[in-house]
Amino acid sequence: MSAHEAGALHAEIGHAPVWLRQPADVNTLLPQLWPRTVERGADGVLSVGGRTVRELAEEYGTPAYVLDEVDFRARCREWRDAFAGGEVHYASKAFCCKAVVRIVAEEGLSLDVCTGGELAVALAAGMPAGRIALHGNNKSVAELTRAIEAGVGRIVVDSFDEIDRLTALARARGVRPRVMVRVTAGVEAHTHEFIATAHEDQKFGFSLASGAAAKAASRILHEDALELVGLHSHIGSQIFDTSGFEISARRVLSLHAAIRDEHGVELPELDLGGGYGIAYTSQDTPSTAADLAAGLRKIVAEECGLRNLAVPRLSVEPGRAIVGPAVFTLYEVGTVKDVDGIRTYVSVDGGMSDNIRTALYNAHYSATVAGRASSAPPILARVVGKHCESGDIVVQDEFLPGDVQPGDLLAVPATGAYCRSMASNYNHVPRPPVLAVAGGVARVIVRRETEDDLLALDVG
Ligand SMILES: *Cc1c(COP(=O)(O)O)cnc(C)c1O
Repeated sequence: MSAHEAGALHAEIGHAPVWLRQPADVNTLLPQLWPRTVERGADGVLSVGGRTVRELAEEYGTPAYVLDEVDFRARCREWRDAFAGGEVHYASKAFCCKAVVRIVAEEGLSLDVCTGGELAVALAAGMPAGRIALHGNNKSVAELTRAIEAGVGRIVVDSFDEIDRLTALARARGVRPRVMVRVTAGVEAHTHEFIATAHEDQKFGFSLASGAAAKAASRILHEDALELVGLHSHIGSQIFDTSGFEISARRVLSLHAAIRDEHGVELPELDLGGGYGIAYTSQDTPSTAADLAAGLRKIVAEECGLRNLAVPRLSVEPGRAIVGPAVFTLYEVGTVKDVDGIRTYVSVDGGMSDNIRTALYNAHYSATVAGRASSAPPILARVVGKHCESGDIVVQDEFLPGDVQPGDLLAVPATGAYCRSMASNYNHVPRPPVLAVAGGVARVIVRRETEDDLLALDVG
């Protein structure tokens, strides 16, 4: 390569982040990024569950979230089997609608909710109340009342105010809700790093270090109206290894042992929360549910052995890891703009209203032209939305074919978690539908919002 050619190449890819490799072929789908039935046909068109994205776009419009039902069910089963003997709660805040709750129930999982709204969807979908756990740092009296009247299986208590409130409600109704104590263990994990501290400066849970968690457990154990079944911890999100869980499990089990020593009670359960990472780009290498389960079991067994404790029944609460990889968002390209030879801005017909994670967390995503294959050389592109914010970015950096053009369909994988559930109507853009596809059949499980929906709320 001549110096000139090298310079040209450098200009072309010079602004790509170091981890982003120019692919040998922009048409290739990396298996870890896509739901398992997605493939690129001989004509270059992506299909999922036996339907092409062209058919889906024509029939249902874009943007749309597309759920691969076979993939989603398989992930539910993998988690359930990996934690056989324990309990897997799907964290519904990642994405919650009736169809998804029904699938989760059919596949034998339990469900976490953290508001009255999520609880309403779960109950409407027919999830047995005994398999629902209610979380949250500020559950209202109405939410707690509804939860105990419905008979939810667990309430994860988060403050002394809540213990008082729940005690009063339970006494008034003559019921005895099962509760867990949310413990803050001073471990905060995010993606590839975690920090372990002695202090716990955050809104969730009872501090282990200050003694608040021990006090909360003690108060509940002395309160007939509540049944303490275990301790709960949740350390963060998009975590790739078990080292953060190891520290938090050891710390939480130290309290578990202290409760036995002080009160003579071995709590039957232990909940290690969610936060298991998924692949958003080629650089992410998530573990399988089976590997994670083996790692967590080993840590818990070791620690229990050291402290002479019976191993409690283990539960986990994956949200993202179950639904995230099962969904991609299908957009249509509206404009393509080359900016100073630095990169190409590819604008799609959605944006931060259907995926706020890039703007909110500086998240990285991937993308591919979905309606055709291309032999054009790759260009460094940024996929942006149609909103009135320059931070309205969907995919920060991706190599797309140099002939990407208006009218192309573009698919962004791994959008199942925290995209539709965090969607907004910013700029009065109606929220996209969610389609479930399997066996050659697509069905709308959440319909597209319309301008009439928006105006219906606007009663002034
Ligand atoms: C958010 C949350 C989860 C799910 O987190 P994921 O990253 O989606 O796995 C589980 N448990 C609790 C308490 C949470 O707050």
